[in-house]
Amino acid sequence: MQVKYSYLDQQFADVASYFEDLRRLVQSGEFTLGPFVDEFEKKFARYLGVKHAIGTNNGTGALILALKAVGVKPGDEVITVPNSFIATAGAIIAAGARPVFVDCDERYQIDASKIESAITSRTRAILPVHWAGCPSDIEGILAIAARHGVPVVEDACPAVGAKVNGRSVGTFGKVNAFSMHPLKPLNVWGDGGIVVTDDDEAAAYLRLYRNHGLSDRDHVEIWGVNNRLQPVQAVVASRLLDGIEQLVEIRLRNARRLDEGLKALQGFVQVPRRPAGYREVYQLYIVQVSRRDDLRAFLE
Ligand SMILES: *Cc1c(COP(=O)(O)O)cnc(C)c1O
Repeated sequence: MQVKYSYLDQQFADVASYFEDLRRLVQSGEFTLGPFVDEFEKKFARYLGVKHAIGTNNGTGALILALKAVGVKPGDEVITVPNSFIATAGAIIAAGARPVFVDCDERYQIDASKIESAITSRTRAILPVHWAGCPSDIEGILAIAARHGVPVVEDACPAVGAKVNGRSVGTFGKVNAFSMHPLKPLNVWGDGGIVVTDDDEAAAYLRLYRNHGLSDRDHVEIWGVNNRLQPVQAVVASRLLDGIEQLVEIRLRNARRLDEGLKALQGFVQVPRRPAGYREVYQLYIVQVSRRDDLRAFLE
């Protein structure tokens, strides 16, 4: 059996159900920001339980904007974890700062117990990742950050739907980033991202910065860029968000089935600890194996 790289064609087999919404978009002619992006942003903010959601071009853009919104500047240090997609460190570099790496723990998440010793006078933010859609120890990280007066920016790019004790990840830090890349739990037809925050000042900055600093068509408040979320993707995302809980449930069911099946291989295949109260969404299903190369050759 050949396992396919993705099953996106099956997920979107009911493409016709999107046509009516897309027709409304085309008839409106609102192809940059506008009501469809507004509507999705409000809906996503409600879903998470935050004050502001700001759509962006992609998750990487969301991370760069989030870092800038908490004041990260050239010369600063940002503490993060190397066990992530390259975009996490890349966003820190793009914001002009220097990534300071803290190793991961046995769940492959940033090791909160190692953060404190990495803090220096130049530390401007802590950027934990909810790697593979599984929550990091965000409550522990927040406590350390609060002690040092350093803001937390969550890289929740692969983690829409993930929770810690009932609260969504991406709502703990000051300004936080999500991705809607096709291989993430909330996945649109191309690229998309979202920055979320409860901070009014950060939200105002983010809305300006992602759209050339324009407060309206004729007024530029600050230097900015074009990091806007495309309305087409907002339409897709809006519809997907209606069914996100069912999608997450399917991921959870599949993961539990793998967990059960792999128990027979204990000693060869190790499944990470699943802490109580953590709702993991398994953007990837990760195991540790003692004979990796042999297993890979066998699977191929
Ligand atoms: C996917 C991902 C990103 C980047 O998101 P894009 O939308 O592809 O730019 C950043 N960080 C993590 C942890 C991711 O999984």
